[in-house]
Amino acid sequence: MQATPDLLRRTCDLALEFLNSLDTRPVALPAGVASFAAMAARAGGPLPARGEDPAQVIEHLASAIAPGLLASPGPRFFGFVIGGSLPAALAADWLTSAWDQNAFSSISSPAAAVAEHVAAAWLLEIFGLPATHSIGFTTGCTMASFTCLAAARHALYSQLGWDVERLGLAGAPPVTIVASDESHVSIFAALQMLGLGRDRALRIPTDPQGRMRTDALVSTLAAIDTPVLVCAQAGNVNTGAIDPLADIAAAVRARRGWLHVDGAFGLWAAASPSLRPLLAGIELADSLAVDGHKWLNVPYDCGLAIVADRAAHWNAMTLLAPYYQPDPAADPHQIRDNHNWTPEASRRARGFTVYAALRSLGRNGVAEMIERCCALARRMAERLSAGPGVEILNDVVLNQVLVRFHPAADTDATTDANTAAVIRRVQQDGTCWLSATDWHGMHAMRISVSNWSTTEADIDASAAAILRCAAHAG
Ligand SMILES: *Cc1c(COP(=O)(O)O)cnc(C)c1O
Repeated sequence: MQATPDLLRRTCDLALEFLNSLDTRPVALPAGVASFAAMAARAGGPLPARGEDPAQVIEHLASAIAPGLLASPGPRFFGFVIGGSLPAALAADWLTSAWDQNAFSSISSPAAAVAEHVAAAWLLEIFGLPATHSIGFTTGCTMASFTCLAAARHALYSQLGWDVERLGLAGAPPVTIVASDESHVSIFAALQMLGLGRDRALRIPTDPQGRMRTDALVSTLAAIDTPVLVCAQAGNVNTGAIDPLADIAAAVRARRGWLHVDGAFGLWAAASPSLRPLLAGIELADSLAVDGHKWLNVPYDCGLAIVADRAAHWNAMTLLAPYYQPDPAADPHQIRDNHNWTPEASRRARGFTVYAALRSLGRNGVAEMIERCCALARRMAERLSAGPGVEILNDVVLNQVLVRFHPAADTDATTDANTAAVIRRVQQDGTCWLSATDWHGMHAMRISVSNWSTTEADIDASAAAILRCAAHAG
């Protein structure tokens, strides 16, 4: 026994204390830099020369950083696009740590390889994608897009007869990258890391909801004579809007091209029969990136890189380690070696939490969770729009709501300043937390409903708090 049962039981109690507090603890950020320094002082100090008792270390860790714990896994955290942890996924995550499997390969952990193999098949079924697509389990959606765009780079350079994995990009013939004016920053981060250049992407204008304009894409593509990589998105991070994927796919297919879709949260709409039509054409994408740790509600870290061309995916990611010697008789596309599908070698066994989440919800449960969050987002928009001066900026098609607060007629504050003031008040109020964004030249409150445990009562209490803050902002 390497860890005493008492230590792990006490740790479990500490975890439960936190989880049980989520319904009632203030949903607010700890105040500013002063408390950061105070926390660092309490947690830090000189590194002890001699080790301390593990039980004391855990007690100290838990109490020293407690003021900095955010209620982000709770039901009234609407900032960024976050999500919490489904009970089964959290429990599986504890086991993942205890089992401490290296998900590198089918030899380093047959269990981890099998979990990813099974979960991958279930995911493709849920997304309505062909079972032949390959999936890599990455740290998040940024690395999922990185992985997908590496596969795209492989395929496009193969067309040009250039072995990009061996030769790199120096002296390589050009390919053209196309993204939208509202592509998520992670797309440009991936381009930057892949040597494709963050500023080289041609940017396609968007419509009033933030969707890529197909007419503009078609005319841009007409002027390009190189292979082309088009990055579209399902789920604009501000509005939730989904690019017209079928039209975009048709335009890309009409020429030598690769279509990547960033569906960090929006791809989960494919799980719902009622929402799925929004994603028509998704099956035509060459690659798709999606998060597990957002809307599937598994703990960090989990993203999924999905690629139609398995060989391109494999060639872009595989390691040629001399110390890894699989059974030569085994078909590498049948036995799953996780390192062939992600940028990492040794890593956490991310398949267990996904497996547990999917199995605990079932196919219908995933659809229900996604539909429930969307219904709650619409409820939030309805509640808020009843308030004076409140404007909902977006069509609430998924789980995102963009809100502006016009000042009362007798003040001379601008709507931008008033909206900022409302957001600050809500952030201090502690009922719920959400953040600000700038969209189409306007300052706005952004609300994302992504947590499995959020109820109608949470929405009503939060909407009431927001309207209360709005009434007092001036
Ligand atoms: C969150 C997000 C990403 C990045 O995902 P990470 O898991 O944070 O790396 C990419 N695209 C969109 C639309 C997102 O919302």
